[in-house]
Amino acid sequence: MDELEKLKETILKEFPRLNRESKFQFRCHKDINCFNKCCTDVNIFLTPYDIIRLKNHLHISSQEFLDKYTFLPIDEKQNHPVVMLKMEQDENKSCPFVRDSGCSVYEDRPWSCRMFPLGVASPKENGTTGDEEFYFILDEPVCQGHKEQRLQTVEEWMEDQEVKDYSEMGNQFKEISLHEYFKKGKQLEPAKQEMFYTVCYNIDKFREFVFESSFLKRFEINEDTIIKIKEDDKELLLFGLNWLRYCLFGEGTMKVSKSK
Ligand code: SF4
Ligand code: SF4
Repeated sequence: MDELEKLKETILKEFPRLNRESKFQFRCHKDINCFNKCCTDVNIFLTPYDIIRLKNHLHISSQEFLDKYTFLPIDEKQNHPVVMLKMEQDENKSCPFVRDSGCSVYEDRPWSCRMFPLGVASPKENGTTGDEEFYFILDEPVCQGHKEQRLQTVEEWMEDQEVKDYSEMGNQFKEISLHEYFKKGKQLEPAKQEMFYTVCYNIDKFREFVFESSFLKRFEINEDTIIKIKEDDKELLLFGLNWLRYCLFGEGTMKVSKSK
């Protein structure tokens, strides 16, 4: 993690900053001689929405997905739990989803795989204010895509990679993960860390908590919402993020039932 911290610092201080209209040269395709080389020994942080897409693609529960494919890096500086994709223990440390023909979960691949070679930096994450989020190019030596003759804007790349849903869900998640509460140096107690982990990463367990405890009696939740969150993981995650604002930060995002 220390190396990642250093990389973050370098990105903020030295990398050219791109916006949505900035153009960059890049093309990735199956006939390129580095095909699949970027899918080994790579650090992939998974967002809550990444996990929903992947576990549904694989037709397994969020618990099974977490057990089989992820690990929690230990970092005392981290305000809340983060989840990373676990590489295989083979010689190359391959991604568990890479095959000779390419990515086996391509339609539901994680946000960072879609965005590559672009990254997004949030200066606010490092406690600085006044700086807006920006994009930057990750120029990995193994990647030959930068030599290909295709010029596109950041916006065009994001459209091509279909990141819209991921970005929208990611923005909702950032409202929690970059919350003022953490900037003041406050830490979540273990029970709240657990709640954060369940809502953000173990969506099926959160559904059990909502529907198999007294939860629905304790809060005023309209019927339409109950129907939506019962069936739809994305709706449940959005609901869960609101619930986190209430239970972690004391915001008025939930209404306690009068008949509790
Ligand atoms: S999820 Fe797919 S695109 Fe991402 S590293 Fe794994 S194989 Fe490559
Ligand atoms: S290394 Fe770069 S160009 Fe090669 S397959 Fe990966 S993303 Fe595409």
